[in-house]
Amino acid sequence: MANTIWVLVELEQGQPARSSLEVLGKAAQLGRAEAIVLGSAAATVAPTLGEYGADKVYVHADAIYDQYLTLPAVDTISELLKQHQPRLLMLAYTYELRDLAARLNVRHNMGLITDAADLHFEGETLQVTVPWGGQNVVTVTLPSAGTGIVLTLPKAFAVEHHAGKAAEIETLNITLRAEAQKMKIVDRIELPIEGPSLEDASVIVVFAFLSYLPRSKHLHLMATPFNVFFENYAPKGALPLMENLEEREDYGVSKPEQFTWKQLLDGYACTECGRCNIVCPASNTGKPLFPKEIILGVKEALFVQSREILGENTLWSKIGVAGLPADETAEEKKAHHEPMVGGIISTDALWACTTCQACMEICPVAIEHVPKIVDMRRHLVMEESDFPQEVTSLFNNIERNFNPWEINNDTRAAWASGLGVPLMSENPDAEVLYWVGCMGSFDQRNKQVATAVAKILKAAEVNFAILGPEEWCTGDPARRIGNEYLWQMMAQQNIETLNSYGFNTTVDHSNGHASASAVAGVAMKPRTIITACPHCFNTIKNEYPQLGGTYEVVHHTVFIEWRHGDEAQSQQELLLWRRRWSCLDGGKDWQTCQSSSYKRGPGYGS
Ligand code: SF4
Ligand code: SF4
Repeated sequence: MANTIWVLVELEQGQPARSSLEVLGKAAQLGRAEAIVLGSAAATVAPTLGEYGADKVYVHADAIYDQYLTLPAVDTISELLKQHQPRLLMLAYTYELRDLAARLNVRHNMGLITDAADLHFEGETLQVTVPWGGQNVVTVTLPSAGTGIVLTLPKAFAVEHHAGKAAEIETLNITLRAEAQKMKIVDRIELPIEGPSLEDASVIVVFAFLSYLPRSKHLHLMATPFNVFFENYAPKGALPLMENLEEREDYGVSKPEQFTWKQLLDGYACTECGRCNIVCPASNTGKPLFPKEIILGVKEALFVQSREILGENTLWSKIGVAGLPADETAEEKKAHHEPMVGGIISTDALWACTTCQACMEICPVAIEHVPKIVDMRRHLVMEESDFPQEVTSLFNNIERNFNPWEINNDTRAAWASGLGVPLMSENPDAEVLYWVGCMGSFDQRNKQVATAVAKILKAAEVNFAILGPEEWCTGDPARRIGNEYLWQMMAQQNIETLNSYGFNTTVDHSNGHASASAVAGVAMKPRTIITACPHCFNTIKNEYPQLGGTYEVVHHTVFIEWRHGDEAQSQQELLLWRRRWSCLDGGKDWQTCQSSSYKRGPGYGS
């Protein structure tokens, strides 16, 4: 049989108090809910209580309950307790009901639990959850014998609605004792509530969170939408151009305020999810680089130096909006005087980056790690001359030999000897320029790739040429290491060479740098540059436009695919093309292959 739970429903200005209705709703969940309603408006209120969960309502409509404090109600409930033995009397934690509960407990020795945040029955035993002593929550049990009293915390339960439910009404026939009418209420003063009430608790929580937000890691909730909106949609492989190299006073970034606002916004937007660390090849191979720490390092540098940057006495510094006020702890003092590059962010971390951009690709909030890393490298290389020793020979070789090694660039076309590959100087009308790159020209394994590409182009009867010694290193390694000066030197020379053959696809460029028109007397003949090297591809296609060199650049694999679509339009032509390639690759000449004794290789159709 269900436990019977009594609830004394308080009246406020003739209406049931919300706190009592919350308790009534919980009582209905626990068992059979029986309400007691006392006071001049009790008869009016009683029929409505079924809709809040009451199965039965005891009613005593008498104005004495309104006029006297607690004792008449204690008498009435005591009388009821003599006739019935409910399992529990539940009361909302209000001033008057606390008083009533204490008196009933003394009178009947019932067992009283206050501050209940939740309660439930486990068998016959009542388990009550009570916040206790600050951080602790305890569970209190009320043994099964007799009626217990539980005072519940405000807002612990919601008001339950039982539409259409009607409660059984029992009107009490009780004569109230004159002795109980001791503490008469002579006046009521309603004090207006100032400030937010508990009803507005959610508003308080939201505003408290908003105040906490700028100083917490949750700041990304505000910064992320802007960071994603302002994401850079330029090709990701293109590093930003450093303009006016000859006239600049600073090179690269050593202090947070030298970053752009967007680069600084990145720090605020970081969710600290760590995805970038997970994909970073440097982190994964034990190098001292964690891309997330680079982003957070920039933010930290900004925060600890915020007062210096914004000024000691500005409003922003005083309220700490830009970050934690500096110099308040010994650690902050130390951090404050640490440089960003080489202090908060170690130079070893900066040099460990391969600029692969896996971190940028994976970042869910469009943070750009690599431009920041390269900006700080630029400072180290161009202002401090502080870079790993191995890099010195690379820079020297690129500068002197126009390739990364101690190899004379005059031998750049040696790999092609015997293949019948013309130089651009010999075939200036070539439709296609094969940009071989330093690796294809000098590295033993990559020379095989260059040779294979050249053979395919010849087999496809493409009118192509290479630059040979006129081709210089694109400057890509120098730029990624931070030597923007050397990159621009290489880039300008290569652009001049390409433009002298009329390769530019546009004449005029918005950034004010030299364009194809700079080469007097050379007609512009937009043609294709193909390359096997991904670094050369990215640099010529995505970065040379920053200096006025805009070209049609395709990877050799894409070009070969095009030729399938454009020229070998019929299946027959495609088969012929494949046969020629197969023939040449087998070391035979085409005439021999065309003889009747030639047998096609497998997979070329019938
Ligand atoms: S670009 Fe640098 S930091 Fe980013 S994943 Fe690659 S190696 Fe790591
Ligand atoms: S992936 Fe982006 S958001 Fe996540 S930690 Fe790295 S930089 Fe921050």
